Amino acid sequence: MSIWTIAGRLRAIAFTGSAQQLALLAKYRKGESDLMWRDGMWFLHATVEIADVPIAAPDSFLGVDLGIINLATTSDGVRHSGKGLNAVRRRHRQLRRRLQAKGTKSAKRLLKRRRRKEARFATDVNHRLAKQVVTEAERTARGIALEDLRGIRDRVRLRKPQRVTLHSWSFHQLGVFIAYKAARAGVAVIHVDPSHTSQECSRCGHVDKNNPQETFACTSCGFAEHADVNAARNIASRGKAGWAVGHAA
Ligand SMILES: [Zn+2]
Repeated sequence: MSIWTIAGRLRAIAFTGSAQQLALLAKYRKGESDLMWRDGMWFLHATVEIADVPIAAPDSFLGVDLGIINLATTSDGVRHSGKGLNAVRRRHRQLRRRLQAKGTKSAKRLLKRRRRKEARFATDVNHRLAKQVVTEAERTARGIALEDLRGIRDRVRLRKPQRVTLHSWSFHQLGVFIAYKAARAGVAVIHVDPSHTSQECSRCGHVDKNNPQETFACTSCGFAEHADVNAARNIASRGKAGWAVGHAA
């Protein structure tokens, strides 16, 4: 890259990125880039412009339930554990308590660096997760159904210790990553009403306010399934119903 400085134009400055980023840049680079200084490193923010891929009309949907213990669970029964991410967040919280007690300038600086490191880690996890979900939907010619998460903080199914670790920006980010990766693959995405997804039986539709435990157990038809998988199946069928309504014409 080349940049203008007060001393004139500097040319042929090397930059690097992931193989995927470099491939995107080579193909779709558009306009100017911004140079940012952060955490003692220089970052180049470049823009790419990629044409929309036509969305294929899906017959059915892959439902995705987002959570804390399992970051994402699909209606196929695949659970993506949040173990690694939660461990990083726990360590960060402990460090923050220690550093805040100190209150010095260098402690504050270290805290800021750590916070960004944690955010980068979460972003990386979300990228990989979104890719897996989109690849699976594309492979099986399905759309993706997600909960509309605007009300996630109020969700009753989150027990208290979970609320503490709830990072709503991270959920939002995962939704955004899935949406843009799906758009690039021509995979349909639909957001569904999140109410009672975890309390409704995905087989018979009975809603029981006492559910869920870790295992969902229907008091009406006896159906039992992992709570997150049951929720994901409800999200999938709501996605199918919602798509049918929205595309009836
Ligand atoms: Zn039932």
